[in-house]
Amino acid sequence: MCERCNYSELLEKSGLPPTPHRLSVLKTIGNSPAPLDYKAIYRALEEARHPINRVTLYRILDLLVEKGLIERIGSGSRAPCYGSAPNAHHPRHPHFYCSVCGSMECLDPGSLHVDVRAIQEAYPVRIQKVEVRLDGICGHCLTKEGGAHGGESDASRCRERN
Ligand SMILES: [Zn+2]
Ligand SMILES: [Zn+2]
Ligand SMILES: [Zn+2]
Repeated sequence: MCERCNYSELLEKSGLPPTPHRLSVLKTIGNSPAPLDYKAIYRALEEARHPINRVTLYRILDLLVEKGLIERIGSGSRAPCYGSAPNAHHPRHPHFYCSVCGSMECLDPGSLHVDVRAIQEAYPVRIQKVEVRLDGICGHCLTKEGGAHGGESDASRCRERN
């Protein structure tokens, strides 16, 4: 639970009236410790007794991405995940993606440094956004790999963590 971000204020600052639907989508994503994919967001809203139909949810996600409140985080060939866009309380940070179970984790902002200035000096470009994703096998899947059991059921359980 994030107590520092005022979600209705964030919406208003972006020129979006804080409707109950927009607020609950932004809260669901903002309060999650890890990025969520569409399915996980849909499920979380249902569990919070604030169900939103699929078309409306897609539209709200697109709108929040467009206004820079949330970010679409690429996850290889699977469905993208959504996380809070960096703001005053949340610095930009790298993500870790598990190629076995498809879960995504937020890494410490200081864990990987990208020297934007040096890159801009070396190339004739202006960098507007840095997205760093590290792929590998998450701790949960590594434990499973070493255990006696393996296979499909473990992989789907791991994805449930999202
Ligand atoms: Zn926050
Ligand atoms: Zn995993
Ligand atoms: Zn993150």
